[in-house]
Amino acid sequence: ERGRLSRLRHTPAVTLDGQKVELLANIEMPEDAPGAVLAGAVGVGLFRSEFLFMGRKGDLPGEEEQYQAYKKAVEGMQGLPVTIRTIDVGADKQLDDSISDAAHLNPALGLRAIRWSLADPAMFLTQLRAILRAAAHGQVNLLIPMLAHASEIRQTLSLVDFARAELDNRGLPYGPVKLGAMIEIPAAALTLKIFLKYFDFLSIGTNDLIQYTLAIDRADESVAHLYDPLHPAVLRLVAETIAECDAQGKGVSVCGEMAGDITLTRLLLGMGLRSFSMHPAQILAVKQEVLRADAARLAPWAQRVIEAEDPASMLAK
Ligand code: PEP
Ligand code: MG
Repeated sequence: ERGRLSRLRHTPAVTLDGQKVELLANIEMPEDAPGAVLAGAVGVGLFRSEFLFMGRKGDLPGEEEQYQAYKKAVEGMQGLPVTIRTIDVGADKQLDDSISDAAHLNPALGLRAIRWSLADPAMFLTQLRAILRAAAHGQVNLLIPMLAHASEIRQTLSLVDFARAELDNRGLPYGPVKLGAMIEIPAAALTLKIFLKYFDFLSIGTNDLIQYTLAIDRADESVAHLYDPLHPAVLRLVAETIAECDAQGKGVSVCGEMAGDITLTRLLLGMGLRSFSMHPAQILAVKQEVLRADAARLAPWAQRVIEAEDPASMLAK
C-alpha cells in the first residue's frame, strides 16, 4: 500500500470530474518543511509557531531567532507558500511555568492564542516583525488563531500595520503577506461576514471548533467519546463556512484533524472544500480519496449527511 501510494506523490490532486484540490501540510518546526515537500504537499497550510516557544525555560525566542526559523521553513518549502500561524499557547499548549501561569480555572476558555498575543503587544509585535521579514524570502500567509470579536480583529490588524511601520523605521526589508483568520470558535463561524470583510483567506480549525461547539474539552479522556466531528452542529458550521467563502470567492481551507481523516474526505469535498491541510503522513492517502471522488455527485449527498440525525451512519455505507 505504501509503495503504491508513494507513486501518487507527483500526481496532481484532481477529482474524477476535474476539480483541482490543494493538499497542504501542517508543520510544527522549520525542519518539518523538506519532509512536507517529499510527502507531496503543495505548501504549508498551518505552521504551528507555538512549538518554537514551548519547552523553553525562562526566555522566549526573540525577533532574530524567530525570523531565522520562519525563513528556514520558507526556504525548506522551495518556493511553495507557507502559512505561519501566530502563537497559540494556553489550554493544550502550555509554556514553561516560569513564563506563563498555567493555573487558570479553565484554560481552554482563558488567555489563549490571540488573546494572549493582544495582552502582550510587545511579544506579539516581535513575532509579527519576524514573520513579515521572512515573507521577503517567499510566499508567506499570516494566520491568526482563536479570533471571535470584531474588536480583536481590528486590534490585530492595526498591530500588523504597526509592525510594518517599525520595520520601515529600522530600514529592514520585509515582504507582502496575505492575512487569514482561523475559524475555530462557533462565534466566528456565526459572524463570518465580519471575517470575510477583513481577511484575505480563512482556515477552519476543526479541532477547536468541535471542542467549543460541543463543550467537550479536547484533552479530557473522560469525555473523548462525545468529541464528535460528525455532530450535525459541527457539520453545519463547517459546511456553511465553506459555502459562504465560496460565494465570496475567498480562499478557505480546513486545517484541523478532519482534513487528514480519509473517512471524511468525500464529505468535505461534497461540502465544496478544495483546500485541505494535514499532517504530511496523511497527504497521499487523502490524495487517493480525491482521485476517486466525483465532486459534483458528492454535493447533494453531503447535503443529506449534514441534515441527517445520525450522519455517521451515512458515511459507513
Ligand atoms: C484546530 O483547532 O483545528 C487547529 C488546527 O489548531 P490547533 O489544533 O493547533 O489548536
Ligand atoms: Mg485550534
